[in-house]
Amino acid sequence: MSEEDRAIQERARGFIDEDLIPWEQHAEEHDGEIPEAERAKHHDKAIELGLFAMNMPVELGGTGMTTFQQVLVSEQLGRVTNALGWCVHTPPAWAPAVVSEHQMDTWIKPTIRGEMHECYAITEEGAGSDVDAIEATARRDGDDYVLNGVKMHVTSFNHAAYCFFQAKIVGGEHEGEHAMFFVDVDATGVRVVRTPAYTHTYADHHPLVAFEDVRVPVANLIGDEGDGMAFTYEWFRYERLMIAARCCGAADRLITEATAFAKDRVQFGEPIFAFQAIQHMLADSLTELWAARLMTYELAKNIDRGVDVKLQHAQCSMAKLYASEMAGRVADRAVQIFGGRGYMRENVAERFWREVRVDRIWEGTSEVQRSIIADQLGKRGVSPLIG
Ligand SMILES: Cc1cc2nc3c(=O)[nH]c(=O)nc-3n(C[C@H](O)[C@H](O)[C@H](O)COP(=O)(O)OP(=O)(O)OC[C@H]3O[C@@H](n4cnc5c(N)ncnc54)[C@H](O)[C@@H]3O)c2cc1C
Repeated sequence: MSEEDRAIQERARGFIDEDLIPWEQHAEEHDGEIPEAERAKHHDKAIELGLFAMNMPVELGGTGMTTFQQVLVSEQLGRVTNALGWCVHTPPAWAPAVVSEHQMDTWIKPTIRGEMHECYAITEEGAGSDVDAIEATARRDGDDYVLNGVKMHVTSFNHAAYCFFQAKIVGGEHEGEHAMFFVDVDATGVRVVRTPAYTHTYADHHPLVAFEDVRVPVANLIGDEGDGMAFTYEWFRYERLMIAARCCGAADRLITEATAFAKDRVQFGEPIFAFQAIQHMLADSLTELWAARLMTYELAKNIDRGVDVKLQHAQCSMAKLYASEMAGRVADRAVQIFGGRGYMRENVAERFWREVRVDRIWEGTSEVQRSIIADQLGKRGVSPLIG
């Protein structure tokens, strides 16, 4: 780590410890909500500390961090529960290279400035892992497109000003190809179908959203007809890496808290830390965290070095797969070490135990990651993938 890397890491760590972690329990007890003034304070401080839009170039108003520096920040964000870390926002990294000037000024720059928030409407009832199965449609009509479809798990829709809507083109030479659009959430024809409850307790909801004859100007199409899937793949790579980083942060916090508890908690006249069964759970957890962290850091540095995108794709899958499964095991052991207290919602291990579960599902399930890794192994062999 350079001096600058360390300074960024310390800035993020201080923010999480002093400003965010103290609100976890309140959020848990209030459906993920914290007082509005406090939420605004977190948002402003994230900007003031230079952590906001860390993946965006400086010339667009972002912080322009290296991928490795972004991983260091994301790792710290992973140490807090209840999605309080989502006050640090990263607009889609692929956007600056492909959006028009109009789209940049209308949606991306205000997002970088923290004035508006986006969400992603890709998954559908019949299209989860198999994104190509989406049934949402986009039909050209004069200077507009008419959009239809029902999207599922649209994270942060309740806080968003606009969404990225993925659909298949109907008619014309790109019939059946994927396209991506900017759609304002208050556009006519956009409707929340329902807001289901999820395992975690987050202020950001994941509703089903219907798009019924939503008319958007051609200027809302991102790139060209047929480009939609490429943006989604790029987003997957970025998010898989950042999920790996957040899982490392979660495991770090869990091991730290469980170790402190084990040293303090006395049963049979001794701190439970003295019992080999407890020591082994902590030792396994620390060892697995180290492996996941090394993998995640190395991948981030590989991306900064500009390694081949196919290699990045496979390594992002490996890091996400390993780190998310590692975090699940560590959270489960932490609950066990805390005993009955670990089953209480006021306990950090209980919250993480529920929260890290989704990291094995979203942005590609563990099964899908394994398929990607095996596919690359079959095509390229061992050395090109892991050096
Ligand atoms: C909390 C949450 C937030 C989300 N946020 C968003 C969002 O903001 N925007 C959005 O568009 N989507 C979002 N998603 C959707 C998420 O990306 C999908 O849930 C995920 O891709 C899996 O799809 P699925 O749930 O339909 O599962 P399915 O694809 O139906 O999979 C079910 C099971 O079958 C397995 N399976 C599927 N295909 C294969 C295969 N080829 N080989 C082996 N096993 C397979 C899966 O691994 C899984 O175990 C979110 C999901 C959750 C839970």
